[in-house]
Amino acid sequence: MEEKDFKCLRCGAISKYPYEKGKMIERQCPKCGSNNIRLIKEKTPVKEKK
Ligand SMILES: [Zn+2]
Repeated sequence: MEEKDFKCLRCGAISKYPYEKGKMIERQCPKCGSNNIRLIKEKTPVKEKK
């Protein structure tokens, strides 16, 4: 299972959580205990032509 960065929308803490596509996993912020946690979308790297 891969891990991705998630951000707590309540306190802003960023933590790594296991992530599976199409699967809802209950996550809880280790700092404030909120379950209002969202996946941080990685910026798509710009393709460079060599
Ligand atoms: Zn939090």
